[in-house]
Amino acid sequence: MSARPKVYVLGGGLSGIAAAERLSRDPDSPFDIVLLEARPHLGGRTGSYFDARARREIDTGQHLFLSCYTGTLDLLDRLGTRSGLVFFDRLYIPLWDPMRGLNPLDVPGNKSQISAAGGLLQYEGLPFSLRLSFLSVARAMPKNDSDVDHLSAYDFLRRAGQPEEVIDRFWELVILSATNLPSRTVSAAILVRILKESLLAGGVASRPGYNAVPLTELFVLPAMRLFRARGVAVRTKTRIMALTESGGRVRSLSTSQGEIALGPDDRVVVALPPWSFEKIVPVTWQETPLVDRISRLAYASPILSIHIHYDTPVHLPLITGFHRSPIHWLFNKDAMEQRLIPETRSWFDWSGEAEDDLLPTQQVSATVSGAHDLLDRPDDELGRLVGEHLLLVDRRNTAPPRGIVAVRDRFATPVLGTGQSTLRPEARTAFENLFMAGDTADTGLPATMESAVRAGAAAAEAILAGVALTSPDKDAAIPA
Ligand SMILES: Cc1cc2nc3c(=O)[nH]c(=O)nc-3n(C[C@H](O)[C@H](O)[C@H](O)COP(=O)(O)OP(=O)(O)OC[C@H]3O[C@@H](n4cnc5c(N)ncnc54)[C@H](O)[C@@H]3O)c2cc1C
Repeated sequence: MSARPKVYVLGGGLSGIAAAERLSRDPDSPFDIVLLEARPHLGGRTGSYFDARARREIDTGQHLFLSCYTGTLDLLDRLGTRSGLVFFDRLYIPLWDPMRGLNPLDVPGNKSQISAAGGLLQYEGLPFSLRLSFLSVARAMPKNDSDVDHLSAYDFLRRAGQPEEVIDRFWELVILSATNLPSRTVSAAILVRILKESLLAGGVASRPGYNAVPLTELFVLPAMRLFRARGVAVRTKTRIMALTESGGRVRSLSTSQGEIALGPDDRVVVALPPWSFEKIVPVTWQETPLVDRISRLAYASPILSIHIHYDTPVHLPLITGFHRSPIHWLFNKDAMEQRLIPETRSWFDWSGEAEDDLLPTQQVSATVSGAHDLLDRPDDELGRLVGEHLLLVDRRNTAPPRGIVAVRDRFATPVLGTGQSTLRPEARTAFENLFMAGDTADTGLPATMESAVRAGAAAAEAILAGVALTSPDKDAAIPA
């Protein structure tokens, strides 16, 4: 029997996968890795299901990637599935506006901040006089993201010289899509981090990408293969019910499959969302700063994904965004799955004049972020709403839907609201053998795949670097 210390990774979403991958990378690692997941499969919020009517695997919710997702791209390299992603050569997305119809946002894919600004200035969805205000955003960037955590993204943009109309007709969709929260709710620190890592690093960092294979094939199946090869023990259908502690250490894990007693050198990585973590913390830790902070983060913002199959094709660009509309995004799934390389297609230079610029598809996915208003509407009503948006793009889009599947994700992402960025837990905690990961951990990013992956890797690095206590200012006041 192995006498090596174990690291128990709790939660098999992207963050747990990234943590287990990093911890098992070195064949001489001093640890045995055990990944515990409540569901029968890994993947968490990045999942797929088989739709019998469409006869294909469909992601529960459409996920978009950005070229600045360095952690995710590195993980995919290690899983051997980076070729499952398709990236645009620049930031090119047709955006619909009630006053101006469809206009492409077109930002060149190079490193120049000036050409990124030029791309924004050419966006014809806004009058030129309003577009000029974009130039003042870069000047308003704080040195430290946390300097603006006390502001909402909306307040920050107003301070940065953005007129109400520009926020309403441009930034609102950008912010909702990137953070799953409205501009008046989300912390400005999150918006600032997004801008620094994407547009302000030039169009090259802002190129959108999408998975041309189901998320399960991109992440889950290759992770299972990798873990098998590296000897990582993956235990699915194992729900953690409670942690028990004494002396500031986790001593055991109560699971649906029985009790796991921890050895003196064992560690635990929590790669769970805050609403799951708060259910398992020991009663004696309830008053600690860590648990207090997590419980203040344990509110979720929903995402509604509507998947529709048609018997006869409808016509769409690959990705279309809608400002000031109930539906935020439409995705041409047939085009995505055929791995069309955008720069080789005429519709990539979509002019709005030739119908042939659009591509036929029999499968459309729609996304509504921060979807409180639409979440409980019946499927057929949601199908009609998608139909209305399809008609805004192309008047030929009258095909009746054959099948509608609405996926209502009430716990899609945590609410990282004004003043809440500083509540996000760091990888190291005041509890000697407990490390925090998950998309809510302190990466500075919105709760996304990239945040989840970076947080998982950071928790693993903290363990590998040799455990040290977190800075005393945040979590020091632990009861003895
Ligand atoms: C519909 C939708 C669309 C999205 N779109 C995008 C996008 O376009 N771009 C982007 O970057 N991000 C997007 N996201 C966000 C992204 O999916 C998440 O941020 C990321 O997957 C979170 O990973 P995680 O590992 O932190 O958490 P999770 O994926 O939630 O993983 C946690 C795991 O822990 C397990 N678990 C929970 N409780 C227990 C327990 N008690 N015991 C054992 N296991 C437990 C869960 O089953 C789950 O597998 C989207 C999310 C949703 C829902």
